Amino acid sequence: MIKKVLVANRGEIAVRIIRSCREMDIRTVAVYSDADRRALHVLYADEAFHIGPSPSADSYLNIDNIIKAARLSGADAIHPGYGFLSENADFSQRCKKEGIIFIGPSPSAISMMGDKITARKTMLKAGVPVVPGTDDRITSDEQAVKVIKETGFPVMIKASAGGGGKGMRLVSREADIRSALRSARSEAKTAFGDDSVFIEKYIESPHHIEFQILADSHGNIVQLFERECSIQRRHQKIIEETPSPILNPEMRKKMGDDAITAARAVDYEGAGTVEFIVDRDRNYYFLEMNTRLQVEHPITERVVGVDLVKEQINIANGKPLRLRQKELKQHGHAIEFRVYAEDPENNFMPAPGVVTHIDIPYGVGVRVDGSIYEGFEIPLYYDPLIAKLIVWGKDRKDALERSRRALKEFKIAGVRNNLLFLGGILRSEGFVKGEYTTHYIDENRDILMKNEKCEDHCEDIVIITAFMEYLQKVKKASPKEMTAIKNNWKDYSRVRSVLKL
Ligand code: ADP
Repeated sequence: MIKKVLVANRGEIAVRIIRSCREMDIRTVAVYSDADRRALHVLYADEAFHIGPSPSADSYLNIDNIIKAARLSGADAIHPGYGFLSENADFSQRCKKEGIIFIGPSPSAISMMGDKITARKTMLKAGVPVVPGTDDRITSDEQAVKVIKETGFPVMIKASAGGGGKGMRLVSREADIRSALRSARSEAKTAFGDDSVFIEKYIESPHHIEFQILADSHGNIVQLFERECSIQRRHQKIIEETPSPILNPEMRKKMGDDAITAARAVDYEGAGTVEFIVDRDRNYYFLEMNTRLQVEHPITERVVGVDLVKEQINIANGKPLRLRQKELKQHGHAIEFRVYAEDPENNFMPAPGVVTHIDIPYGVGVRVDGSIYEGFEIPLYYDPLIAKLIVWGKDRKDALERSRRALKEFKIAGVRNNLLFLGGILRSEGFVKGEYTTHYIDENRDILMKNEKCEDHCEDIVIITAFMEYLQKVKKASPKEMTAIKNNWKDYSRVRSVLKL
């Protein structure tokens, strides 16, 4: 039985995992880099080990140091969270070799699903529909031109090792094939150390719909229904909801069954997600399987009534699943909003900095998973996701109304963030009607930006944020002065007196 878990991650997901461990009376060990000395996950864990300098290659991806921390702390299991080492088969293998339980699937399942070409082949064999395209890696430009002409434009050139929207290029005409191949390959080589690419038909106006699965070591697999993830910017999700506004019970059942088939084809064990792309005619195709916990897992937890981290730990302990497929139901509707420290007006560029003020929404049906607090400096080294707002309602309308209230109450100052942009999407006509595809943000950018209007004390927050930034950067106000200003920011004359104006 697992008694102590080392969480090989940071940010909101590390905090979230620690919370479930606490509820299970399992001790927790955090690891951290230079930049994360004061990070929330470090404060939350029972113990914390420094594992290296700020760049993730030297810390959160440093397998030797993480294993050393596990040894020193006496942790008997490692939870990898998402990103970093979560889908690294070598890491899972290394844990096995060291006698430490890896809370996740086997190294072979990770490898098979981590390589998109191998995954495609495995799914074809298992009878799960895949996007029409090549079954093997592309070996030359000439071959690519030939295949693309046969498939018909538009196509996607995709890196086999790809992830996070990287190594993917849309090609709509012959003249662009060679340059797209070159750039997809070089991006993949830099990001993943593997420049293998393959070709897929480009699905026009698609939906991205994924299914959560859980599989134990006794051959039991259940699916916990779908998540609609079509609200994306730069091929990355920012709002997810469940149930999907476009699925009917028959399609849900069919896709859920295929998700189980996909998991069974690789002897899957643990929590995983099978991603599908759905075309205009509601044909669906396997896109990939993520062999880990997803960022958007809380909406499933809310609607199905399950703690996925606890289930992962239960499975890692070798216990049979406690859930039965026929007992699983979707209750109400849940939506997740990903809050990023980024600038929507500047092509969503990450915007690190010090959080000077934060108002977290509370109340009925609201959950916030976050990793920031007032005074915390968001490092520039990592993904700028800083919090997730998860809202539940008895139906979609109820969830939308509650989301509007909760998003309005959510305020972060000191760093640029996408809260107002998320509010703009939430109020937009297509989203309200549940009529949107993966192109929604790109196609409605102007409207969504205009929707980004300031409301009541939000406006003050924006002004004070700009003002505090100015003071920090230009005038180098002391921390004491900053605190005095923050405490008095509604009183202009007192702010003037603090600044001796
Ligand atoms: P990654 O592993 O980088 O996340 P995915 O294969 O999961 O890449 O695709 C990410 C997103 O890219 C999808 O949600 C979808 O919006 C878009 N996409 C991927 N493949 C296709 C395709 N064949 N046609 C249209 N859009 C696609």
